[in-house]
Amino acid sequence: MNISQRDSKIMWHPYTPMKAWPEAIAMVRGEGVYLVDEQGNRYVDAISSWWVCLHGHGNKYIAQKVAEQMTTMEHCMFAGFTHEPAVRLGERLLHILPDMSRIFYSDNGSTAVEVAMKMAIQYWRNKGMPRKRIVAIEGAYHGDTFGAMAVSGRSVFTEAFTELLFDVTFIPFPERGNEAASISALDAVLAAGDVAAFIAEPLVQGSAGMRMYDAATLERYFALCKRYGALIIDDEVMTGFGRTGTLFACDQVSTRPDIICLSKGITGGVMPLGVTATTAEVFDAFYDDDRSRMLYHGHSFTANATACAASLASMDLLLHEDCTTARRMIVEAHAAFAVTLAGHGMIADIRQAGTILAIELRADTTTYHSALRDAIYRFFIGKKMILRPLGNVVYILPPYCITKEELAHVYTCIQELLTALEN
Ligand code: PMP
Repeated sequence: MNISQRDSKIMWHPYTPMKAWPEAIAMVRGEGVYLVDEQGNRYVDAISSWWVCLHGHGNKYIAQKVAEQMTTMEHCMFAGFTHEPAVRLGERLLHILPDMSRIFYSDNGSTAVEVAMKMAIQYWRNKGMPRKRIVAIEGAYHGDTFGAMAVSGRSVFTEAFTELLFDVTFIPFPERGNEAASISALDAVLAAGDVAAFIAEPLVQGSAGMRMYDAATLERYFALCKRYGALIIDDEVMTGFGRTGTLFACDQVSTRPDIICLSKGITGGVMPLGVTATTAEVFDAFYDDDRSRMLYHGHSFTANATACAASLASMDLLLHEDCTTARRMIVEAHAAFAVTLAGHGMIADIRQAGTILAIELRADTTTYHSALRDAIYRFFIGKKMILRPLGNVVYILPPYCITKEELAHVYTCIQELLTALEN
């Protein structure tokens, strides 16, 4: 039996209707933008393996730094102990996150969000002014754990647990041309004075289908939170590390968040790591001699030294001018491709935020799992390309190592999909 067959007997895959997709493709190697399966087929990974592999696969520089750290000290508990990779990474993150002053490590995006919400709610308790309400945006996705599910506004992911999730107020998504409705909804809920925090995916709701809104709206949200004193949780798990054009999406607005969540691209996809960064104001509400004010949270793998080393190496590459040039090339190529698609009969909307290009297809259904989605996925697999759609939205979120030629090939395959759907 090959790997796929052995897998199909014992594995339970995430977000996979396992009758429709009975056999997972077994990948055995990664090289730059390519993943190679056990038959030797090379697939273009056009979505950076769920948006994490910032520099593609098998990056030798990151691998070397990881190996060095592993053979020096792979891990060390982080209560009462510390180490150079964690501190250096923290210093580096704080350098590129102005106004943040503390770094709390965890393991993934969901935990980064859980930590942020626990911090926000306990912040108000510690200040003797309890506030428990969290406000989120309809359609949001902030993770799979219970707290993160509560603030996620996609019922398909959460409906089995609805009555177990804490009460969250959702404001409407800021649809293009109707942003004012969403902004005034936030204004109204903040005016009640009991909001602990507002959480948002800045500029792009990823899992909702790369739904985008403008920086002016994000600015208005953040400014309202400041006016009413609610904390701002900026979930940059997907948008962080250059995806939307700037290093972080929140760099496109002048009002700064109080808490920022990071994961996915933070290690270049090499190791799992989550970060919750906070201002000094948030941190200071927890740390004096009263132990009842402590944040009781910490994972076994908190600040894993190897993950921190991977992240430092990934950051070396990200902040190098070659990567800036590569990102600029992707942004420009996407924009030029979008122009060629304008007015296409199969397309309901085309949107771009930096290196993310989303093409929303006209479809009878926009549900997460649909026959259309399966068909699109299979079409691209047939082309040896990983372009797993979100409902009826095909999107490209490529590793920064992709070349112009490889991108052109991705665009050609998308054009072929459109032609196939038309016929
Ligand atoms: N927040 C956002 C904005 C995300 O896109 C995701 C993952 N898609 C998460 C949180 C959860 O991250 P993880 O899957 O690493 O738990």
